[in-house]
Amino acid sequence: MKITIAKTAGFCMGVRRAVDMVLDASNLATEPIFTYGPLIHNPQVLEMLENKNIFRIETIPEKGKGIVLIRAHGVPPEDETALKKAGFTVMNATCPRVVRVQVIINRYAKKSHATIIIGDKKHPEVVGLLGYARGNGYTITSMEQLEALPAFDNAVVVAQTTQNTVFYEQIKEWCIKNAPHYKIFDTICGSTEKRQSEVRSLAQNSDAVIVVGGKQSGNTRRLAQVARETGSLATHIEDASEIDYKMLASAKRIAITAGASTPNWIINDTCAKVAANVQKQRPIMGVVVRARDFLLKTNLLLAFGAGGLTYACAVIQGFSQIFVHSAIAMLYVLSMQILNNIITIKSDTYNHPERAAFYEKHKRFLQMLALGCGAVGLYLAYTTGFVAFCVLLIMSLLGLSYNLNPFPFFLGNTKIRKIKDVPGSKTILIALAWGIVTSLLPAIVNPCSLLPVMVTFVFVTGLVFARTAFFDVLAIQGDRITGKETLPILLGAQKSFRLIQYVLLFDIFILLPAYYTDLLGNNAFLLAFVPLFMLLLIRLHKKDSLLSGRQYEFLIESSFLLAGVVAAIM
Ligand code: SF4
Repeated sequence: MKITIAKTAGFCMGVRRAVDMVLDASNLATEPIFTYGPLIHNPQVLEMLENKNIFRIETIPEKGKGIVLIRAHGVPPEDETALKKAGFTVMNATCPRVVRVQVIINRYAKKSHATIIIGDKKHPEVVGLLGYARGNGYTITSMEQLEALPAFDNAVVVAQTTQNTVFYEQIKEWCIKNAPHYKIFDTICGSTEKRQSEVRSLAQNSDAVIVVGGKQSGNTRRLAQVARETGSLATHIEDASEIDYKMLASAKRIAITAGASTPNWIINDTCAKVAANVQKQRPIMGVVVRARDFLLKTNLLLAFGAGGLTYACAVIQGFSQIFVHSAIAMLYVLSMQILNNIITIKSDTYNHPERAAFYEKHKRFLQMLALGCGAVGLYLAYTTGFVAFCVLLIMSLLGLSYNLNPFPFFLGNTKIRKIKDVPGSKTILIALAWGIVTSLLPAIVNPCSLLPVMVTFVFVTGLVFARTAFFDVLAIQGDRITGKETLPILLGAQKSFRLIQYVLLFDIFILLPAYYTDLLGNNAFLLAFVPLFMLLLIRLHKKDSLLSGRQYEFLIESSFLLAGVVAAIM
C-alpha cells in the first residue's frame, strides 16, 4: 500500500502568519490576549489557544483591556476602530492577500464605484470586505444573482479569496460581454487553487483520499468535495480518531491532504496512524519500521551517531583510546537527550505525539537510564584523566541546568529565567556540547596540536548545529505553541534553512585543506560526505519530497553513524 501526503497540506501563508502572531504575542505579552472571532476553523487549534489563555470575543464591549488579534479573514474598518475605542491594543493579522482586496474596494468605493463581491455574504472575509464598500457593496453566489443586479455606471468586481476559480471565470466572461466597463480583479488566492488542483490529481491516482481539517472549515470541505467529484473514495476527518480503517481496507493507494487551517501535528498524527495500520498488514516491513522508530524514540541512533562522530574525529587525528572516547560521547548524548525529551513532553505532544506518549509511559525507567548513562560516562571519563572527568562533569551540570533557573537573582524580572529562555540557545548549546564531547574531550588526554583539534571541533559543531536547527524547523509549530525560543522561531523557517545550508557548505569547505596538507589524516576529506549528504536531504525536503519527517530523522541521525563507519574503513 502506498501513502502520499499532499505537498500543499496544512496551514496556508495567511493562517500560519495569524497563528504565529498570536502565539508570539502570548509568549511575550503580560496583558490578556483575545482573538476577535475564532482565529481559524479548527477545534484542536482553538482548544490549544484556550489552554494558552487566548480566548475569543465575539462582540466588541464598550470597555476592554489587553490585546485583540484580528484574524486572517479581516474585519470591516469600523470594527477595528471600535476595538481601539474600547481600549484594546489591536494586532491586525489580516492576510496580506485579503488586505489587497480591501485596498482595491476602498480605492474604488472612494470614487463612487459599486462593489460586486463573488462570495458568501455571511463569510467573515466577505463581511470584512463589504465594510470597505461604503454602503455600495453587493454579494453574489450565482449567475442568476449577478444578472439580477442593477446595471451600474461604474463597478469593481472581486472574488472572496477562497472562491471557486471555474465559477469566477464564468463571472468574468459575463462581465466582459455585458458590462465591459466594470473593473475586474483576480483576487482568488493561489494557495486555494493549488490545493484544489493537487487534491484533484491525487484523487485521480489514488483509491482513497483522507482530507484532514475542521468540519466547519469551508476550504477543507471543498477539498473533500473536489476529491469526491473525481469518483475516488473521500473521507473528511477532524483528527486521527475518526479514521475509517474499514473504508481503507481495500485501498492500495491512499492520499492524505489537509485544509488551510489544519496544523502540522494533526496531519503528522494522521499519517503516522494510517502508516501504522499499513504496517499491521505487512508484518516484515512492520518489524523494520518499529525497530527504526524504537531507535529514534529512545535516542539510541543519535547516541550511536555521537559515538561514530567521536570515532571519526579521533581516527583522523590519530588518537588512542578511541573506543573509550566514543563510549563517553554516546553515554553523555544519550543521557542528556533522554532527560531533555522527558522535560519537553509538552511540546512533543504537538511535534511527536508518539514519542511524548512513550516518554510519559516509561518516564521513571528512562529517568533511571539517563542518570545511569550519565554516571557510567563520568566514570569512563575519570579513567582517562581527572581533567576529562571535570570537563564532562561541568558539561553534564550545564546540560541539567538548561531547563532550570540557576540564577534567579541575576535574571530578576525579565522573561529570561532559564538558559533555555535565551532565544536560539538550544540549537547553539547542543552543537557546542557535542563539539566539546566528541572532539575536545579526547584531545585533552591525547598529545595533539591546536589547529587539527579546532578544525574537528568546528566540523562537528557545524554538523550538529545543522541537524538540530533542521529538526527545530520541522517542529516549529509545536515549539511556538509551547513558547520555545528556538532558532527557527527567531529567524523564521526560510532564513534558518539558508543558514543551515551555509553551515553545511562551510563544513565541506573546512575539510578540503586536509586533502592538500597533513593537518589531519590523509583521508579526512572523505568525511565531507556527511555534510554533503545532509545538504542533499535538506534540499530534498525544501523541494517537498515525499519522505516523511520520521524518514528524514532516521537518515540524518544515521549519517553521523556512517561517519564512524567511513573512518573505520579509512
Ligand atoms: S487562503 Fe490565501 S488569502 Fe486566505 S488566508 Fe490563506 S493565504 Fe490568505
